[in-house]
Amino acid sequence: MTLRPETIAVHAGRTDFAALGVHAAPIDLSSTNPLPDIEHGGDSYESMATGGHPLAGGGNVYARLWNPTVARFEEALAELEHADAAVAFGSGMAALTAAILSHTTAVGKPHIVAVRPLYGGTDHLLDSGLLGAETTFCAPGEVAASIRPETGLVVLETPANPTLDLVDIAEVVAQAGVVPVLVDNTFATPLLQNPLDLGAAMSMHSATKYIGGHGDVIAGVIACSEQTAEALRRVRAITGALLHPLGAYLLHRGLATLPIRLERQQATAQTIAEWLSTQDGVLEVFYPGMRDGERALLARQMRGSGAMIAVRLRGGFEAASALTSGVELFTHAVSLGGVDSLIQHPAALTHRPVAAEARPGADIVRLSIGLEHPDDLIDDLTQALHKAAAAAATSVAGTTAAR
Ligand SMILES: *Cc1c(COP(=O)(O)O)cnc(C)c1O
Repeated sequence: MTLRPETIAVHAGRTDFAALGVHAAPIDLSSTNPLPDIEHGGDSYESMATGGHPLAGGGNVYARLWNPTVARFEEALAELEHADAAVAFGSGMAALTAAILSHTTAVGKPHIVAVRPLYGGTDHLLDSGLLGAETTFCAPGEVAASIRPETGLVVLETPANPTLDLVDIAEVVAQAGVVPVLVDNTFATPLLQNPLDLGAAMSMHSATKYIGGHGDVIAGVIACSEQTAEALRRVRAITGALLHPLGAYLLHRGLATLPIRLERQQATAQTIAEWLSTQDGVLEVFYPGMRDGERALLARQMRGSGAMIAVRLRGGFEAASALTSGVELFTHAVSLGGVDSLIQHPAALTHRPVAAEARPGADIVRLSIGLEHPDDLIDDLTQALHKAAAAAATSVAGTTAAR
């Protein structure tokens, strides 16, 4: 039976429940596991330390190598991403670190090509050279020209943080040739976009965001082939970048409501994006599909625009500052994808470590739309935009007076 994503989200990763006699996912908190005998335990250890699964009769040995609660979440996420496997980590950044290590220094290819814009933390990690690989940042059309013999990985994000730029995944994959492409799929979720179907080797998520959906777990996950999963699990076992089973339990539980959460959040975001584009204090609204030129790409690679919006404000930084401080229902906070709406200033916060030439403008704020009633969110933005306009007017008056 071919199941639809809404059904998979509810049922995946639960195949062993009936045999266990449970209806909710058991949380296995064991750090170590009793060994049957030295030979079987040792063989299982060897299998997992090199990236494989526990062997029958050998057990899970040690929780840095394998945890059943985490494995169930991984199985479910893989199914939603049309992937053979998924590997979960203690954060999105830990997931990206494992992808970089396993594809660059571990295989003697210490060069990365990365398409900007990216999440600030991703940009920072790539730019730092901390993991022993050098990164060439480029525009989507410059990927082929940036590839070298020692390029081990191409990194892109779409929709990209914070201005929701869309990048043509299949087109970048074609330019990358034999070099594996990692797509940060955090903003789209597996419900709106499946990068592996478009030729990407890895679909990465900061599971902290939509997948968890309730702002109470930090986690990362990568969906990929079984062969790539082995390389990632090997790095995870060696470096210890684990997802705790309590986090995995919450993420697995969160998956069941992801389709319905996202559907509502997206509908509200669409309403708010359209309303924002009629507001005096707003110069530009960034929301996938609002720009004429990207509608064909949106239709080709996504099943919806998602629930993230960015706006450029007429009043510049002063307006951004007054808006983020002036909201009463939105929470002024970084992160995204949860049940409650958030607003933040990328240039000062999430994208602070990005090189000046690639940093978003000081007049841009980013909104993550939650599950509140759209009219209440619009009321809050209305009053906060008034404060922003007043602050910008005072600042202009002050500047004029000082001249
Ligand atoms: C938050 C985020 C990350 C980093 O994930 P953490 O879970 O915070 O480590 C990576 N990419 C995107 C697009 C993000 O929003």
